[in-house]
Amino acid sequence: MSGTFVGMPAFPKAAHDAVHNATLRANLRHATTTIRRKRADAVAELSDWAALREAGKQIKDHTLRNLDRYLEQLESAVTAAGGTVHWAADADEANRIVTGLVKATGEKEVVKVKSMATQEIGLNEALEAAGIRAYETDLAELIVQLGDDRPSHILVPAIHRNRGEIRDIFRSEMMRWGRPAPDGLTDTPAELAEAARLHLREKFLRAKVGVSGANFMVAETGTLVVVESEGNGRMCLTLPETLISVVGIEKTVPTWRDMEVFLQTLPRSSTAERMNPYTSMWTGTTDGDGPRAFHLVLLDNGRTDTLADAVGRQALRCIRCSACLNVCPVYERAGGHAYGSVYPGPIGAILSPQLRGTGSDIDASLPYASTLCGACYEVCPVAIDIPEVLVHLRERVAQGGPVTRAGTKVVLKPARGHAAERAAMRAARWALTHPGAVRAGQRLAARTRRFHPSRLPGPGKAWTATRELPTVPRESFGAWWKRTDGGTRDGKGGSR
Ligand code: SF4
Repeated sequence: MSGTFVGMPAFPKAAHDAVHNATLRANLRHATTTIRRKRADAVAELSDWAALREAGKQIKDHTLRNLDRYLEQLESAVTAAGGTVHWAADADEANRIVTGLVKATGEKEVVKVKSMATQEIGLNEALEAAGIRAYETDLAELIVQLGDDRPSHILVPAIHRNRGEIRDIFRSEMMRWGRPAPDGLTDTPAELAEAARLHLREKFLRAKVGVSGANFMVAETGTLVVVESEGNGRMCLTLPETLISVVGIEKTVPTWRDMEVFLQTLPRSSTAERMNPYTSMWTGTTDGDGPRAFHLVLLDNGRTDTLADAVGRQALRCIRCSACLNVCPVYERAGGHAYGSVYPGPIGAILSPQLRGTGSDIDASLPYASTLCGACYEVCPVAIDIPEVLVHLRERVAQGGPVTRAGTKVVLKPARGHAAERAAMRAARWALTHPGAVRAGQRLAARTRRFHPSRLPGPGKAWTATRELPTVPRESFGAWWKRTDGGTRDGKGGSR
């Protein structure tokens, strides 16, 4: 994939462009509406959904509180099973490790099963710079790679493409990457899937190195787990001689028993399936079966710093089901590219500014990419209170404050462009501690209500471009209460 997120505009600009793309909006609306309905039906089948959700939350919170201990346990178990564990503090270190491992095999190409962690660190670009070609094998990732595009959804990275667009990409691009598309390829799903199957099959049979992510890592046994729908992942995980898995440290769960919860909540929340079609689990290496060498790269890249934030750390509970994307009214209209990160939607809006910091315009804009409607919290199978974290991060962007960066406590300055917001908040704080001034202001506003504009001038113009200012009542609630003794005395005139 050559498309990267570097240099993307901040969310407001990117979203503004995206909402004017009628095809994109139609593709997204169709896809998210369908997935939303199916997920609701799949979840409604389980009478103990609320208990499962709470259990998932508790398991993840417990693991995160004791992550150091569980990671050491995981390392011991993977090593005992014949694997090798590597620790990567950041993207550069992870890329160096993986590139070095591939070079050591003497191979010039790798097959990849969908892994957000490798997208997060830009592994494909790092491999390309080292003369190694990475082939994506997840169907949606393949579409993104062939189209020289960027993923726009956690689960369905090519959700912004319709079938006709996919057919065109296959017809024109497959030949540049290997086996060409069959002659006369149409846009029927079966034909498109068959074209991808034939194209990928030759890569699976040729590749000696596979690169994967993982949905979960079980500390007690050193087992890695990948859940998927297509079976391409299993080919990637079993056929190559060397398997390199790059996984964020927060994907750890303590025991096998914990999988009981997540293997129920993840498929239903993501693809609305009772059970995902393929669940692959591997523990180190086994003679005569699967890869001969297994390397696990444990990726930090901002996760420990996120863990240090008492409010924001709940983002690390995320199991990447994408349910929050599918219910988000902002995501549905703006699309995933507008978030400028491999993690789009509501979870991206709270995860990316924590992993990457709020130093860039795009990261500082992400906490504002939400209406705070709360739908994301309602559907989240591990009960991440996304609106709470959004507000927390908005405060950080507008006010600055203490954060942990690379393990060191630093105090952030406010981001650029929030002076008016800070001034308004200061004024609000002063007013709320001076009730007499508020009452005087209310009286003045009531008397001058006829002259109030319905649109704001200057910087407030954009806010009122699509909404009208509320009209000021003739008298305030407080004044009405006093005049009518809480409504028990009939006061002449209404409050409006
Ligand atoms: S935040 Fe919750 S709903 Fe969103 S992807 Fe993560 S687990 Fe799923």
